[in-house]
Amino acid sequence: MKTLASYLGDAWVSGDGKPALLVNPATEEVLAETTSTGLDLGRALTHARDVGGPALRALTFRERGELLEKMSRAIHAERDLLIDLAIANGGNTRSDAKFDLDGATATLMSYAALGKKLGDRQLLVDGEPADLAGSRLQGYHLLSPRHGVAVHIGAFNFPAWGWAEKAACALLSGMPVLTKPATATALLAHRTAEICVGAAILPPGAFSLLCGSAGDLLDHLCWKDVVAFTGGSATGLSIRKTERLLAQGVRVNVEADSLNSALLLPEAEDATVQAFVRDVARDMTQKTGQKCTAIRRVIVPEGLLDRVREALSEQLSTIKIGNPALDEVRMGPVATASQKRDVLAGLDQLRAQTRLVFGDAALPAPLGVPAGKGFFVPIALLEADDALAATAVHEHEVFGPVATLLPYDGSTDRALEIVRAGQGGLVASVYGDDRRQLADVVQGAAAWHGRLVVVDAKVADKSVAPGTVLPELVHGGPGRAGGGEELGGLRGMALYQQRTAIQGNGPLVAKIVGAS
Ligand code: NAP
Repeated sequence: MKTLASYLGDAWVSGDGKPALLVNPATEEVLAETTSTGLDLGRALTHARDVGGPALRALTFRERGELLEKMSRAIHAERDLLIDLAIANGGNTRSDAKFDLDGATATLMSYAALGKKLGDRQLLVDGEPADLAGSRLQGYHLLSPRHGVAVHIGAFNFPAWGWAEKAACALLSGMPVLTKPATATALLAHRTAEICVGAAILPPGAFSLLCGSAGDLLDHLCWKDVVAFTGGSATGLSIRKTERLLAQGVRVNVEADSLNSALLLPEAEDATVQAFVRDVARDMTQKTGQKCTAIRRVIVPEGLLDRVREALSEQLSTIKIGNPALDEVRMGPVATASQKRDVLAGLDQLRAQTRLVFGDAALPAPLGVPAGKGFFVPIALLEADDALAATAVHEHEVFGPVATLLPYDGSTDRALEIVRAGQGGLVASVYGDDRRQLADVVQGAAAWHGRLVVVDAKVADKSVAPGTVLPELVHGGPGRAGGGEELGGLRGMALYQQRTAIQGNGPLVAKIVGAS
């Protein structure tokens, strides 16, 4: 059986404790094992800080960008094999696997292009100089890379994109990375990391990989380091509360759960309604609904409810569930046995306040899977009579192919009340053709979200679905979503930079910071 080693201190090392097993979630076949017990994480972090940090900081943005481009190309060169790994260990269909992998390589490329644009500099200046005291005195804001390690803790659902998007921002900023993928689906993260290490792209100390549990990792961090976490709210809270992180004032970014909504406005044109139905159906089933950005709450004017329910049910009925290794399968299992338990328990919780309008109450009989095997869950479209009375829909994230139709009377105020009941989210989308109403929704929902997707008939056929995170736009959201912010071009680098105000003789300071 394959053992996943960690890459720490520029060497592949294995732990010595009882290993965790990585399985194929469709067949339950054991694929690999890994453990981090006994690994010296303190030493690994010191090596990254002392060796990787200076090496990266000595490079210009253009040079760091070139490293990202090489990483992207090296991963892309093994795309077919990596897709097979995602199918085997992630329960991904081919299309799900491409979504993760191409997201990883595209994000690395996007930050490579940004590096080129930033050019032959090592530091950035933020904004315009401020005139002080009406004389030669001026102040600038300098952005310099923090001298610690960017510790990245990832969720199980995006084993490739999840680490690559964080690494792109940190490495371009000039910070070394230690990435810890979720254990259950680490096969793909491990192989993509192995490819980059094998190609000797990054300078020594710039990249570390920790496979297996986090162990005492956080207890070795200091104020210079950064933690960027993606995962469940409960884990996010326990990381935030870690005494060492609080005592050292370590910067922590949390990307957590979200009860994303899609809102259809009354009088929407046909093309807009079709885009709405298409996006909801895709979000429910892509990656078996295991996307932090997936639409969970489907807010529909009463006058369009029958039409939307029917159209959605028709689209969902074409989805074949089974072993994602089969071409005809459109939806695989969830990633682990415990995810399956959580989805089924969550579904019961939602069903206590709603009714099932599409889907099987029983577990599906999946295609191409040994009887009784696999972590399969049913697709479930639920409906509430009173959108706000179904409180569980606004409070509990069911991380699977589950969404709830929430009718409203067509008034923007009521629609906004329902949208906001999610208490802060990663993304919300609004579909309509009345400019005034669209503007009211954007203004009323913006402070509750990290991203809003506006779809009208003019972009209905080209709009990027709300579930797709783009490197050019920020990802993260307030409240329930964790309060974090990543990506968004330069904005995603801020987490890894110290902003320092430099004041003094204007022309001199301008020279020092490289602004003239
Ligand atoms: P999780 O159970 O919270 O685990 C996330 C990561 O945290 C894993 O790498 C896990 O390691 C690690 N971890 C667990 N306990 C830890 C601790 N005490 N200290 C340090 N690290 C610890 O989440 P998940 O089940 O993998 O992911 C599903 C959740 O992630 C969903 O709720 C989803 O909404 C959310 N998510 C959010 C985003 C976003 O961008 N906002 C994106 C994707 C997913 P092990 O695997 O070794 O336990």
